[in-house]
Amino acid sequence: ALVYLNGEFLPLAQAKVSVLDRGFLFGDGVYEVIPVYGGHFFRLSLHLQRLEHSLQAIHLENPLSPSQWREVLQRLVARNEGLDQAVYLQVTRGPAARDHAFPQPVEPTVFAMSNPLKPLPTEWRLKGVAAVTREDIRWKYCHIKSVALLANILLRQEAIEAGAQEALLLRDEQLTEGAASNVFIVRGGVLATPPKGPFLLSGITRDLILELAGEGGIPCRERVITAWDLTQADELWLTSSTREIVPVTRLDGIEVGSGKPGPLWGQMDILYQEYKARVRAG
Ligand code: PLP
Repeated sequence: ALVYLNGEFLPLAQAKVSVLDRGFLFGDGVYEVIPVYGGHFFRLSLHLQRLEHSLQAIHLENPLSPSQWREVLQRLVARNEGLDQAVYLQVTRGPAARDHAFPQPVEPTVFAMSNPLKPLPTEWRLKGVAAVTREDIRWKYCHIKSVALLANILLRQEAIEAGAQEALLLRDEQLTEGAASNVFIVRGGVLATPPKGPFLLSGITRDLILELAGEGGIPCRERVITAWDLTQADELWLTSSTREIVPVTRLDGIEVGSGKPGPLWGQMDILYQEYKARVRAG
């Protein structure tokens, strides 16, 4: 499979970056992950918009225009076989002598690759997954899709070692998101998710679910969700580009609602799969 690096398409093994790259030394960079269904990008312009926001937040000029990004990503997807793919792209502040201060001038490193998008385990859809709650130990700029993911990695690993799939993060007893997902809660037939802000990533899937809920007449709120609210949930869902909507049926070892994927999850999953089918059809 070919990858894109700084203007070239080349085999993965030949794609080399300097050890002085600030992405490597400092985690000084941002990224996106975009699903591709049947050769068609899922909400590409929203992903490119979020990339622009992440770059602005770290004061790094976007090295490519939206149309240049589209061309690079299209070529990457076209050159790689297989129908469903996940495109990963990353921009770092590039190689420079190691110094915290921004280099002058900046030569950003631009990298993109496409990998097969693995279907979700059937078990997750049939039975749901387990999650654990953890303190949100991350910094206060979680709206930036930063490649510096050490806290997220440690939190996800803690979840896995506790026999769960995801850590739900609490900042001052309020839910922010998962280690690599946004979170929705259902209580009394009403769907809710925490409001956007610097403590969570504005998920493309999250926003789509709000849209689909609006169109489908499912009552939905963006509101503060507390640790206590989580214990009262009828349903809990995780959302992300690569995992879609995953029902959480155990939280901290206790059943969520009926302990099975809930009816509203079923309803939303149908709307989501219909949306995906429209993307796939172009
Ligand atoms: N929150 C975090 C911390 C993430 O890493 C992700 C995606 O991996 C999400 C939320 C979900 O975002 P999206 O729906 O755009 O994939």
